[in-house]
Amino acid sequence: MASVKVAVRVRPMNRREKDLEAKFIIDMAGKKTSITNIKIPEGISGDSTRDRTKTFTYDYSYFSADSKSIDFVPQERVFKDLGTDVLKSAFEGYNACIFAYGQTGSGKSYTMMGNLGDSGLIPRICEGLFSRIAETTRWGDASFRTEVSYLEIYNERVRDLLRRKSSKTFNLRVREHPKEGPYVEDLSKHLVQNYSDVEELMDAGNINRTTAATGMNDVSSRSHAIFTINFTQAKFDAEMPCETVSKIHLVDLAGSERADATGATGVRLKEGGNINKSLVTLGNVISALADLSQDAVNHIAKKKQVFVPYRDSVLTWLLKDSLGGNSKTIMIATISPADINYGETLSTLRYANRAKNIINKPTINEDANV
Ligand code: ADP
Ligand code: MG
Repeated sequence: MASVKVAVRVRPMNRREKDLEAKFIIDMAGKKTSITNIKIPEGISGDSTRDRTKTFTYDYSYFSADSKSIDFVPQERVFKDLGTDVLKSAFEGYNACIFAYGQTGSGKSYTMMGNLGDSGLIPRICEGLFSRIAETTRWGDASFRTEVSYLEIYNERVRDLLRRKSSKTFNLRVREHPKEGPYVEDLSKHLVQNYSDVEELMDAGNINRTTAATGMNDVSSRSHAIFTINFTQAKFDAEMPCETVSKIHLVDLAGSERADATGATGVRLKEGGNINKSLVTLGNVISALADLSQDAVNHIAKKKQVFVPYRDSVLTWLLKDSLGGNSKTIMIATISPADINYGETLSTLRYANRAKNIINKPTINEDANV
């Protein structure tokens, strides 16, 4: 059994926050992240003091707000902690999944994809995969096959980000394979031999994503992007041929501000007539899984009937195996350091805190004698 690993990462103040002279309200120490509500006056005793600053403990708290600080966490370190873990799982034959969750502008895409010359987890994981393949091939008789796909979920519709315009790219169907689980019908898979093959595809997919964004109303903040690496290893185990298949899903989620169906956001959502069903369902799935896992930990014999609503959205259905199932799962919650985002940041920290309680049961995807 493995718990879902949860990391929180705070980005630097952006131009807007600086212009508004926003206050820095996030503190990190070791695994702990604290958030302060500066609207509550300091120094009042009792409960209000506790309310003013709230502290959460995660697997990692990444301070990326100030590159001059001695505690500063660069992209490299995030990869070393989390990316390496994913690669290790893939080579052992497990599935793995990383989600980036947080409000728009908090650093999800920066963490997953990164900027030019400052690459994020996806490029680093792909690079790491190929260097490990090269190393292993040099020493042993294993052979490898790597395929990637890249899709976007917008308004509960799946779009292939890696297909030429002439073919069917929009509104792909999600189906279920009796053994391998849910998959996207007609999604293009691209065989890659080295990192530059992947880079080319990644760039094309990212352009596809942003081109659409200029045409429609902020698609990229409302859509989920899933980059998937299908990784097959063939080797001989005690003279018998054996094959393991691992899937790595790297997910840049839609802005979490759309998930909050209560309060001010709720009104805006209803006006738009467009609740992000996948993000709301992801929250419900995480809650249900956290409840189930807590029951297991507490040895509650007569299990409550907890229903996990995977089928309620495209995102949760597609990632069913990565959520509470057969996968090593990591969530990175990205946050702004500024007081003006207090509400959104607190809700992200709570969401991440909930995800910590999930326990998965990964198993190796092995097919002997193929
Ligand atoms: P999101 O995908 O959550 O909407 P982005 O990743 O696009 O947000 O980040 C918004 C802006 O902030 C981008 O210009 C990005 O380069 C910058 N940014 C985000 N996180 C960091 C960070 N940790 N360090 C430096 N710049 C960051
Ligand atoms: Mg983004």
